[in-house]
Amino acid sequence: MQSTTVLISGAGVGGLALAYWLAGHGFQVTVVERAPALRPGGQAVDVRGPALEVAERMGVLEQLRGLATDMRGMSLVDASGQELYRSTEGTLSGGDFAAPDVEILRDDLCDLLYRTAADRTEYLFDDSVTALAQDGQRVQVTFERAAPRTFDLVVGADGLHSHTRRLAFGPEAACITHLGSYLSVFTAPNYLGLDRWQVWHQLGTAGGAFMTARDNTEIRVFAGFETPEPIDYDHRDIEAQKKLVHDHLADVGWEFPRALRYLWDAADFHFDSMSQIHLDQWWRGRVVLLGDAGYCGSPLSGQGTSMAMVGAYVLAGELKAARGDHRTAFPAYQDALRGYVAGNQQLALTNRSRVQAQTGTGQGGAVAEVEFPDLSQVVNSLVLKDY
Ligand SMILES: Cc1cc2nc3c(=O)[nH]c(=O)nc-3n(C[C@H](O)[C@H](O)[C@H](O)COP(=O)(O)OP(=O)(O)OC[C@H]3O[C@@H](n4cnc5c(N)ncnc54)[C@H](O)[C@@H]3O)c2cc1C
Repeated sequence: MQSTTVLISGAGVGGLALAYWLAGHGFQVTVVERAPALRPGGQAVDVRGPALEVAERMGVLEQLRGLATDMRGMSLVDASGQELYRSTEGTLSGGDFAAPDVEILRDDLCDLLYRTAADRTEYLFDDSVTALAQDGQRVQVTFERAAPRTFDLVVGADGLHSHTRRLAFGPEAACITHLGSYLSVFTAPNYLGLDRWQVWHQLGTAGGAFMTARDNTEIRVFAGFETPEPIDYDHRDIEAQKKLVHDHLADVGWEFPRALRYLWDAADFHFDSMSQIHLDQWWRGRVVLLGDAGYCGSPLSGQGTSMAMVGAYVLAGELKAARGDHRTAFPAYQDALRGYVAGNQQLALTNRSRVQAQTGTGQGGAVAEVEFPDLSQVVNSLVLKDY
């Protein structure tokens, strides 16, 4: 019997993990990625709860732990650099060191996941889907570069601004919720000589953190600002986005003005809104969404990566259980994850208030004692099935 063919749009965390699981279950997998190679950059992301179990079942948990950011702690400083708070018990980005969670740079995680199934997956880099047409039997796909092809199923794992979602579900405006801020991440040399350390600084509605990476040779600058209304900007115009970040962060003090000099040449610059995606149904016919494309929680949830890894495991498992019948598998996938996703999306809203209070943007601009909350209930609210 011919195996079911699946096109995955997006070689991010979700798409790469799904390729591993589907290939292992005997599906024929093609991944199309808009970037010319795996996308570099990104701050640290967290792998928690059932996502650690997924990593273990993929046989990469040990490697994942070996690639962990391994921070010693964090401090919070004022505009002149005066330390207001310090902790060696955890960081604002990764949480409590006592938790079993793994904090890892996004590019290291993508590289690790890619290697798990690269030999069993067809990759089309530097390409993108331009049209999808479903005829009840299959999906006809047109690409920017590759010749048109048909697939049995298509998975949109192409992130918050998913192009697949736009093609199969309609405009983004109908499902996106702006959480009131923007985040950018870029790499700079570790000119401050920080040692496995994170420094946070916030002035009013703008600020962020410096975090060491790659054996202290570099820092990932995490620069954010709040805007009550979404900004209208061109998602493809990187220079304009860099200017936006520059204009919002130039006056926040501490080391930001100096770090922003590295912004212009940063090849791994990432900029996006803190937003969530809410859809009543995660599939349309033979097209289904995974990770940020279907149920983004925003970086404020700290759970986007775990949701994408768990989502990949469950989607592939349900497709295996239903022998490729999407009419059974897609609703089962959503049913299995719905509560877990809702809890994690809610976590973003809780975290937003907590971070504002703890970095000095809360009421009265006071700096509260940094508490690393117990996330375990939400984070572990899903028990993985065996497929
Ligand atoms: C460059 C980058 C940096 C990030 N940095 C952070 C961070 O610092 N902190 C944080 O919490 N989260 C960050 N995120 C988001 C985080 O990676 C996700 O929330 C999480 O890992 C879930 O991943 P995902 O696979 O659903 O989506 P993503 O990780 O966003 O991956 C989506 C993939 O789809 C690709 N893609 C997009 N459009 C198309 C298209 N039209 N055709 C084909 N491919 C397409 C993208 O290039 C990307 O490789 C970042 C995402 C990206 C892309």
